[in-house]
Amino acid sequence: MSGVTNSIDMRIYAKEKYKCTLCNASLTFPFLYWEDGYRDRHGFHITYIALCNHCCAKIKKGFMADLIQCAATAELNALGYGVVLERTTSMEIEETAKLVQSEVHQLRGK
Ligand SMILES: [Zn+2]
Repeated sequence: MSGVTNSIDMRIYAKEKYKCTLCNASLTFPFLYWEDGYRDRHGFHITYIALCNHCCAKIKKGFMADLIQCAATAELNALGYGVVLERTTSMEIEETAKLVQSEVHQLRGK
């Protein structure tokens, strides 16, 4: 099971086994829970990510952007491009565009 969890059947997981992957706090509803689908001999998932609602609020923008960047890089590398994608802000793009325009303007002025 993966996703945002409000379900009562996750209460045992929330109280007894799983803690927030980032801050180690006990999980209270709602929380994000993702598992890989494999269980050990005790029935616990081998790989999982559980994020408490406080950590979700703190990391929501950066986490999603990092996840998308990593997945996009991996997909491009699987196609043989061998690249590492870098993110930039719209403000940085605008600054770069201004610098390029300024340089073009200076070159035309000569
Ligand atoms: Zn947390």
